[in-house]
Amino acid sequence: MAYLTLKNINKIYPNGFHAVHDFNLEIERGEFIVFVGPSGCGKSTTLRMIAGLENISKGDFFINGVRANDKGPREREIAMVFQSYALYPHMSVYDNLAFGLTLQGVDEDVIEERVLKTAKILGLTEYLDRKPRALSGGQRQRVAVGRAIIRKVGVFLMDEPLSNLDAKQRVTMRSEITQIHRETKATTIYVTHDQTEAMTMADRIVVMKDGYIQQVGSPFELYFNPVNMFVAGFIGEPPMNLIPVTVENGKVQIGSNELDLKYVLDEKKIADYEGKDIVVGFRPEGIALGAHENSYQLDCFVELTELLGDNTNVYVNIGKDRAILKVDPHDTPETDVNARFSIAYDNVYLFDKETERVITDPKRK
Ligand code: ATP
Repeated sequence: MAYLTLKNINKIYPNGFHAVHDFNLEIERGEFIVFVGPSGCGKSTTLRMIAGLENISKGDFFINGVRANDKGPREREIAMVFQSYALYPHMSVYDNLAFGLTLQGVDEDVIEERVLKTAKILGLTEYLDRKPRALSGGQRQRVAVGRAIIRKVGVFLMDEPLSNLDAKQRVTMRSEITQIHRETKATTIYVTHDQTEAMTMADRIVVMKDGYIQQVGSPFELYFNPVNMFVAGFIGEPPMNLIPVTVENGKVQIGSNELDLKYVLDEKKIADYEGKDIVVGFRPEGIALGAHENSYQLDCFVELTELLGDNTNVYVNIGKDRAILKVDPHDTPETDVNARFSIAYDNVYLFDKETERVITDPKRK
């Protein structure tokens, strides 16, 4: 197991494009870190700099406290699993798993022991004689993961390893990778654009946008205490509702409802924001139908409902704005009618419209 330190890491590609800006992160031994963000935000570039596949333009990278900027990929003791499985098609599963160890000159009987053990962890024992083409996508992916974990390196890097699998296989492999991490306890960095993968697998998530880290925190912290509108909108499914408003006399207007900010914001901030534009945020699951105490009441027009089984998504209009609510299927409202719902003060977030940063206090620690 290794620990990694990234200090002011930057990537400027030869064409002048600045893909990663001042990336700072300490990754502890055995941590499962997920880099998440939309396409092009710099996740893979950062991972490739850690792997040594891409040079670091500026900044310092340390493995176990030793500067590693100039170390080649092999010297870094890092194994990487790519989106494309990159298996050797003419070799059996056994040989694919054994290949890296054979290259290192490891004894045959040690190789056999490690291959059998790895195959067992990954449920591949009965496929050891098969060639990759005779495997399903999920099984191939397992071989790719197996080739990484068999090397017993200090760090695993995984770049969207599940993106070639169908939705069901992804769910299965997700929990398998978590399980493997629990067994191997190897420091892992996992790249994805899928917030569900990030939320379910990570010890800590790094949310990136346009080459900048937006926030680093546990899934719990990012969900309850997003630092800005981007993180609030990216973590959570469906995303947080964000409604722009203007503060007038310490109140804001959403549709026909007036919301007094004194219930969610301290006096000084209310005064600071008087006359300014802010954004009211609330999660689809943070509301309840009907009128409740310690809550803002909002009157809306129900446009559409989607029954998903475990819950119903309700699409509503509130004045000129739209929102999505998530309710218990038994509470599914009629469509084309007005309905009243309540948002507990605790579920309300306010953001500065200009800086997009949150202005309400952290919800939970
Ligand atoms: P995705 O989820 O689509 O893989 P990503 O977050 O991993 O996206 P990167 O692949 O790291 O993004 O790319 C970050 C930015 O750097 C993108 O705008 C990309 O176009 C740019 N980029 C990547 N490789 C190069 C290169 N060799 N030369 C110039 N720009 C590059």
